[in-house]
Amino acid sequence: MFGKYYTVLSQVPNIPNDYLKKVEEVCEKFRFKAHEHYLGLINWDDPNDPIKRIIIPQEHELTEWGRYDASNEKKYTVLTGLQHKYKSTVVMLLSRECAGYCRFCFRKRLFILPTEDTLKDLDEAIKYIEKHKEITNVLITGGDGLMLPTSKLKDVVSRLRQIDHVHIIRIGSKMLAYNPNRILEDPQLLTMIKEYSLPHKRMYIMTHFNHPNELSEKSLKAASLLIKAGAILANQTPMLKGVNDNEDTLAELFRKLSFTGITPYYVFICRPTIGNKGYAVPVERALEIFQKAQIKCSGLAKRARLVMSHESGKIEVVSQSNEEIYFRYHRSAEEVQSGDFLVFKKNPNAYWFDDYEEVVKHYSYNEPYRCYGPE
Ligand code: SF4
Repeated sequence: MFGKYYTVLSQVPNIPNDYLKKVEEVCEKFRFKAHEHYLGLINWDDPNDPIKRIIIPQEHELTEWGRYDASNEKKYTVLTGLQHKYKSTVVMLLSRECAGYCRFCFRKRLFILPTEDTLKDLDEAIKYIEKHKEITNVLITGGDGLMLPTSKLKDVVSRLRQIDHVHIIRIGSKMLAYNPNRILEDPQLLTMIKEYSLPHKRMYIMTHFNHPNELSEKSLKAASLLIKAGAILANQTPMLKGVNDNEDTLAELFRKLSFTGITPYYVFICRPTIGNKGYAVPVERALEIFQKAQIKCSGLAKRARLVMSHESGKIEVVSQSNEEIYFRYHRSAEEVQSGDFLVFKKNPNAYWFDDYEEVVKHYSYNEPYRCYGPE
């Protein structure tokens, strides 16, 4: 159903034999999966094709770096597969599967390790959410939320809709890029969204487009159907070396998303996850690219924030001067820290918040405004 998936690299049409040899070891360590639609977007004659870099195993994945759970999601796991880090939001890891394995996946532990990370007991999860009246948002993800059959999704969504204080139900998915047939060929999914995305309680689809080439005609059609059914679409992408780490590509992505009706929401600094070093962009370089890209966009296309999903919270990378870099806790696991503004001495070799060691100043969000002025 919904077309053909490839899980063995040598079976991919057009894959050169010498390339297979080069990535043999990578394929033994990290799994491969891609849909025929997505593979069809690759220009095999272009050695730097961005789609190829996103989905086809790369030699650099063997570079030693990072850990499997770089943001320590385990710390915020209240039940197997249910994370409660920010007061108003819970994350349900419902699916162990994706429509393709991004080579830079930050949760590749789901596909590789034998650990139990996905939700086992929906009844317990629902009870937890019912009990915690501060929860207004539930994110269904994994893996990919749209890998679940619509009947299963409907079961979960309908139960969440019975909880008064849950207003927003989000589904995290790269399906619109990887396999838009999942949406185009399943009218039941659209019916489900029509039924549960209400005027005062919307369903959001959190899309995952990394590069403008992913916005194929089919993807645009799928996005349009979801919007028509009543879903709100917002896009998140990491900044990826060799894929979108230049101002023109990023600006084009932001612009195309805004034209389609998809809000550019977050651009993530790559989490230091095993296998991902080859995709990581240093924080200060990423900020420069991000800001230059935004200058090329209209207001609606520049609504994204550049953030790090750090263990302590979502940290926005706000600005930099010659000597200093400025961060703000966009969301914090410790409520009291939310909104705090941090000034650090710059470190051009920093790939993650933990690489900044010299704090220049920490302004609490509730300090009087004048505290931000010169001292
Ligand atoms: S869609 Fe998300 S969870 Fe799935 S492989 Fe890509 S980054 Fe990982």
